[in-house]
Amino acid sequence: MFNNMPGYEQGPIRPPSEANSLLVRLTRNCPWNRCLFCPVYKGEKFSRRSLDEIKGDIVKIEKAVEKISNISEAGGFGGEVNRQVAAQVQSEHPDLFQVAFWLYRGGENVFLQDGDSIQLPVGQLVEILGLLTEKVPSIKRVTTYARSKTLLRRSVEDLTRLKKAGLSRIHVGMESGSDEVLEYMNKGVTGVQQIDAGQRVKAAGLSLSEYIILGLGGEQWWREHALDSAEALNKINPDFIRMRTLAAPKSSPLYEKVRQGEFKLLSDDDTIREEKLFIENLQGIESTFYSDHILNLLEDVNGKLPEDKQKMLEVIDRYLSMSSEDRERFCLGRRTGYYRTMDDMQDESSSRQVERSYQQLLNKGVSVDSYIKDLMLRFI
Ligand code: SF4
Repeated sequence: MFNNMPGYEQGPIRPPSEANSLLVRLTRNCPWNRCLFCPVYKGEKFSRRSLDEIKGDIVKIEKAVEKISNISEAGGFGGEVNRQVAAQVQSEHPDLFQVAFWLYRGGENVFLQDGDSIQLPVGQLVEILGLLTEKVPSIKRVTTYARSKTLLRRSVEDLTRLKKAGLSRIHVGMESGSDEVLEYMNKGVTGVQQIDAGQRVKAAGLSLSEYIILGLGGEQWWREHALDSAEALNKINPDFIRMRTLAAPKSSPLYEKVRQGEFKLLSDDDTIREEKLFIENLQGIESTFYSDHILNLLEDVNGKLPEDKQKMLEVIDRYLSMSSEDRERFCLGRRTGYYRTMDDMQDESSSRQVERSYQQLLNKGVSVDSYIKDLMLRFI
């Protein structure tokens, strides 16, 4: 049977920015697993993998790198993993393909899975990081997810040890800085705790990526969500702020609350107004801001703070200044994949397709907003 699996264990997710990273699994699932909006590990039990299992995977990766290098040498490519070598590995050794593809994309970045690797004792993490960089010397960046609550159980000294051992960056799902929102969503952490956790990561000299979910306050707390999240980030000054947009798929506990009308999702327009308020209130920080997720309506709200703040707000104002019909057309085009940015509305062929769908919805009396909310669930 054709086997494209790597021969070592992998978890289900990684941040989009780690698309070219090698995945090394340290734990399985999420130790908290109660956030209302999160569908990822529901029904799965958290466990720590043993040090021996993890070391075994690292040795398998080392051997895969050696074997791929030999294939390259034999093909006259001097150990370089180019397109031909990757293709040869894919057809002759499919179990090595993921490592070959990783080497082809540079072989430098590693992401430690799953949702909260810092759960492992610091001594074990130091050992794992040391082994990784010893066995695979091409590695230059190692990143992982961590919960703020878990980070609070680690001192700045602990985190500094991890940095010295080779950890480069921690991705934290802050989601919101608002206590009302965090409590309703059962995030298991307060705004102040998120600030403390983020500040510890920064004090240890680690790079920090904080995620915020637009729309997480719904209609009730959108203002608190925007203002308190901005305030928390202002106190942390993370290296990266990455935006996500809320959807409530059936597999998330939030779905039932939306269906029963208890939680009211924001429309696309209100989500963008919330984003505007949020960005306006980011002050005194030097973070790089990314909207690098398919669920974000305005993917081109990106930049370095503070210098690009105005440019980012102009993208939002450009959207808000369109007529309500054109905003609906853009949302429809974006959610159906015809548009990535507002500039794509100038493309005749794409806009013809969007117009056809738009008119069909109008003729059927279907609300564009509710149609779009359904479409968004398909991206989860
Ligand atoms: S902590 Fe993260 S992975 Fe765990 S349930 Fe919450 S959002 Fe999901």
